[in-house]
Amino acid sequence: LTDVKNKDEGFWRLSKLGVPVHKDPGKDYLGISDALLEEIAKVLEFPVASMLPPEVFTVIRKSFDSRKILKEPKFVYTVDMDVKKLLDLEPRMWDFVSQLEPEVGLVEHMLHEKVTGDLITIIRDFQRTDAEKGLEGDHSIFSGDSCRFGRMKKPNIVVVGSGPSGLFASLVLVELGAQVTLIERGQAVEQRGRDIGALVVRRILQLESNFCFGEGGAGTWSDGKLVTRIGRNSDSVLAVMKTLVQFGAPPNILVDGKPHLGTDRLIPLLRNFRQHLLESGVTIKFGTRVDDLLVENGQVVGVRVSDTRHELHSSSQNLGCDAVVLAVGHSARDIYEMLLSHHVELVPKDFSVGLRIEHPQELINSILYSTFATEVQNGRGKVPVADYKLVNYVDEEDSRTATRSEETSRSCYSFCMCPGGQVVLTSTNPSELCINGMSFSRRASRWANAALAVSVSSKDFEALKCHGPLAGVEFQKEFERRAAKMGGGNFVVPVQTVTDFLENKLSVTSVPQSSYRLGVKASNLHELFPPHITEALQHSISMFDKELPGFISDDALLHGVETRTSSPVKILRNVDTYESMSLKGLYPIGEGAGYAGGIVSASVDGLYAGFAVAKYFDLFKGDI
Ligand code: FAD
Repeated sequence: LTDVKNKDEGFWRLSKLGVPVHKDPGKDYLGISDALLEEIAKVLEFPVASMLPPEVFTVIRKSFDSRKILKEPKFVYTVDMDVKKLLDLEPRMWDFVSQLEPEVGLVEHMLHEKVTGDLITIIRDFQRTDAEKGLEGDHSIFSGDSCRFGRMKKPNIVVVGSGPSGLFASLVLVELGAQVTLIERGQAVEQRGRDIGALVVRRILQLESNFCFGEGGAGTWSDGKLVTRIGRNSDSVLAVMKTLVQFGAPPNILVDGKPHLGTDRLIPLLRNFRQHLLESGVTIKFGTRVDDLLVENGQVVGVRVSDTRHELHSSSQNLGCDAVVLAVGHSARDIYEMLLSHHVELVPKDFSVGLRIEHPQELINSILYSTFATEVQNGRGKVPVADYKLVNYVDEEDSRTATRSEETSRSCYSFCMCPGGQVVLTSTNPSELCINGMSFSRRASRWANAALAVSVSSKDFEALKCHGPLAGVEFQKEFERRAAKMGGGNFVVPVQTVTDFLENKLSVTSVPQSSYRLGVKASNLHELFPPHITEALQHSISMFDKELPGFISDDALLHGVETRTSSPVKILRNVDTYESMSLKGLYPIGEGAGYAGGIVSASVDGLYAGFAVAKYFDLFKGDI
């Protein structure tokens, strides 16, 4: 506290402040309500809540807690108190403040507030600071015009893929002074929207412009969840989130415990992102696919591209460059093959496969919120549309007893849960069928869907006679082909009610309605996976019903097949430089390379890769 007295900055972070639903203004309110002020006063042991000036408090995080042990669901806040401001406004509070003692986990003294902005501001501020200090060359962390290729010659970097990782790598590189060409096989969001419309309405699958390929990558027509397991409060995640806000995401993603955008918000955000890149000098080529790498003396010197819009008449073209950042996502299977032809080191990676379960959203709301379910009001109400996260460990030897042993256990977990969303087709080839989930910002649809995914590894690939570096890809394809056959073609998805799946019988009576727009066909999903995966799913569903009674319901429908949960391949790269271990000048990044899983982690990987490439070319001299 002595420090606080003497410094300009000084914050007390107050956490776990619970406000019951009936007292809170609701999920979208991020100010300091009277009820929250009362909670703050309680934690600070300050006798009169109304004497605390609300303007000294800032909400840092707001989450919704609906655990069954609570009498009533509540919003849980983390709030920062600006001590200096408090004392400026209320000097009489001095005695009170000087007696405050931090309690671990509840009140924490933050001497230095984090000062991270969006990426563009951070980079430009550093550049400005260095220029003001008159630092140049070796002294500066940004070295401006001088680089490995001599003064004034900017390195020419090709970034392949405009998903989150490719976009963030391009942003960092262009801000640091590289000449960037961003190549995307799919279309810009405007045309991509029309192509996806044609798929959903007329069953026309454009091979290069669909739910996986096109501007924004797989994350565009998605749920747009921005939750991540890589440390919500890390500087890099905050920089990514603030950059998204800079491009039009609502600022509440910085505070919301489970931030979410939805497709309708992602599309304008991506347009702004594109505009910024273009204005900064990035050349963007949509409808252009990288087919090959040009390699000379063990070093990438360019790419061979073709025009995907005029495939029949197009001839390929070579583009020279100093380095290639490969951000192609995990559906670009042709790229894995191409890399193998250049002897780039790839290894199979564990991932998960499973089925997508769909319930009526109202059922999930009532299971999770009981009487407070009425407060959801189709996404317009006080409380968020209910979601869930479930996990179960199944022992391979005896899935029925669920005895867990480190060596033989597999996990089965809910994945990419989309409350108020819909099931969508993520196939990139008409003979294969796979699905995922998306939603719009209000999450107002009648359905809640989530993948139920079971972990698989090399042992499983080998059992299906899938070998070599692309064993996992072959394993995925096998189930995607089976699902397409079971659906009978035309992108019809095989389905089975949860109750029938548990009893291993075909759903003969009519199945519940599905949000999937291209049609469903009653099938026995036991014919899809090997028995141990099916049994793991059966067992886990029974366990999930114990946690969420009502999860097993005649209204719950399982859809096949969910295979692209994460990359089945890892492209080996150097931990510090991000360069491929086997090919100089190649920088494999993002989900397709096996280094990310989700929008935020892919963005962060792109960000770090951008700095790593810039470092190699002497555009950046700081620590990454
Ligand atoms: P991608 O986003 O896959 O981007 C790769 C890009 O490279 C694509 O645009 C592709 O067209 C392009 N490309 C591929 N090959 C070539 C080539 N040869 N030449 C030129 N371009 C090429 N994650 C979340 O965190 N939250 C969610 O709510 C969420 N929902 C999802 C919903 C759906 C339907 C799907 C499919 C995914 C969802 N994900 C979600 C996962 C998330 O989208 C990915 O983890 C993320 O997009 C990976 O980013 P990336 O940049 O590594 O690759």
